[in-house]
Amino acid sequence: MSDPITPKLDFIREIIADDLATGKHATTITRFPPEPNGYLHIGHAKSICLNFGIALENAAVGAKCHLRFDDTNPEKEETEYVESIKADVKWLGFDWAENLYFASDYFTFFYDCAVHLIREGKAYVEQQSAEEMRANRGNLITPGTPSPFRERPVEENLDLFARMKAGEFKEGDCVLRAKIDLAAANMNLRDPVLYRIMHAHHHNTGDAWCIYPLYDFAHPLEDALENITHSLCTLEFENHRPLYDWFIDNCPVPSKPRQIEFARLNLTYTVMSKRKLLQLVQEGHVGGWDDPRLPTISGLRRRGYPPEAVVHFCKRVGITKFSGTTDVALLEFDVRDFLNNSAPRRMAVLDPVKVVLENWSAEPLTHVEVSNHPQNPEAGSRDIPISNEVWIEREDFMEFPEKKFHRLGPDRHVRLKGGHIIRCTGFEKDASGGISLIRAEILPNTIGADSPLGVECKAAIHWVDVATSVDAEVRIYDRLFTVEDPDAAEGGFLTVINPDSLKILTAKIEPSLATADAGFSCQFERTGYFIADATDHHPGVTPVFNRTVALRDSWVKKGGR
Ligand code: ATP
Ligand code: MG
Repeated sequence: MSDPITPKLDFIREIIADDLATGKHATTITRFPPEPNGYLHIGHAKSICLNFGIALENAAVGAKCHLRFDDTNPEKEETEYVESIKADVKWLGFDWAENLYFASDYFTFFYDCAVHLIREGKAYVEQQSAEEMRANRGNLITPGTPSPFRERPVEENLDLFARMKAGEFKEGDCVLRAKIDLAAANMNLRDPVLYRIMHAHHHNTGDAWCIYPLYDFAHPLEDALENITHSLCTLEFENHRPLYDWFIDNCPVPSKPRQIEFARLNLTYTVMSKRKLLQLVQEGHVGGWDDPRLPTISGLRRRGYPPEAVVHFCKRVGITKFSGTTDVALLEFDVRDFLNNSAPRRMAVLDPVKVVLENWSAEPLTHVEVSNHPQNPEAGSRDIPISNEVWIEREDFMEFPEKKFHRLGPDRHVRLKGGHIIRCTGFEKDASGGISLIRAEILPNTIGADSPLGVECKAAIHWVDVATSVDAEVRIYDRLFTVEDPDAAEGGFLTVINPDSLKILTAKIEPSLATADAGFSCQFERTGYFIADATDHHPGVTPVFNRTVALRDSWVKKGGR
């Protein structure tokens, strides 16, 4: 990238550097703990870059990052999500090596910790209804009212909890609660629920369990069991930290992880909650989890965003304690910046109009040599066919050229990129007044040569040979929402979906593009960056290209190019 980011020390990296310097820890173990209930999005990429990044930066002291599936909730998880999450982490360039874990493997440990709390008089089986519990929790001013079951003897709690586990109760009949502090200012400490009954099948443990731990209870135990040193999560868990610490202090755990919170990533013109993404997918507003308009990692990949650009973006956004919203244009900038250097150039005409080269018969050429990357000679060149008719972009011709328009118009000259200078000798219109055909002549011997004396030629335009061009489906993606903050839309985010977020064109492409492999990424000269679609592009059969991002288009507003 043109702007390499040296990882500056954010407040989390400072804490870690300090812990290593003072010898509090000999190394660091972080973790990325997704719940496999949806596909990952770019917000998760921020967390992945942070956790795996810290492990890489401290590799010299043996630092590691665990990939842990937080699959303690039996109802929402699917193996499809597990596989997609693994693929996404790898695609971003990170490697969990042998450190792959599933929280559901710890169910016995969670259970033992719960029994330990009961024995210590720090947990009890609650038989009030959920409504009663809510009503008795109190509020910021009033302390909670003790449950009639709060002072049950230990033996009775042990017996009831064992019977909960054995499946003797229906869902909702009882829960296990920690006995902490009903007057605590932090509501999370007012006897939180540790276990609930769910007669549900789990993808890993099958029907072995019918009681499942809650996130707040399970998560610190998972961290401690894996010897996580720094448990990094987003700011909404700040209020849960005292509870996290309480579990660490009161359960028989092998280590003492420290929770540190940072601001989550929010982006303009998109939604990021998994629930909303799921709704967009399930209700068919988009084509699937990997729809290129979604902020999912699989969507970005299918759209042609290079992983390096996504990682660079995450580093640039940085880690802070203050929530804010990042302009999606910043991400698009990084994508362009990366592709500008790396993507080979090809030619495709998105809105074609035919130019007949009337004096072509005198020309012996069948191909011209065109550079694959003007700023990078190492990218080499390719031969593209040319004959007496070429497609050019409709907007590269003006019947009445504006002042700063340097391209084709009646009696004007323009260069066909890599080829001749041509002069427009006439044009035809269709019934509706649109240009239907342009007539031109080539100026012989102008390939790779300056314009002859007296000929003004300031621009080179892209083109494709009519005889050998191939029709391709080209998908032009725009932002999925019409407003910066779809979550705040009065009628809900679905009411502000951009009806023009996908336009499908039939473009004329040079033959080499038709046979390119799926996933081939390039710049269509002067138009934008495109990628051969991973799913629908079949080389030599049906070419399909997705627009990754447009080039900055200055001439439309300011003129001149
Ligand atoms: P969502 O809120 O989108 O449904 P989640 O937080 O429930 O996502 P998890 O699978 O629990 O999804 O997330 C795994 C990790 O990714 C957590 O550590 C979480 O804090 C982090 N994460 C999720 N969203 C973001 C975000 N927008 N920015 C930074 N980190 C995030
Ligand atoms: Mg979560």
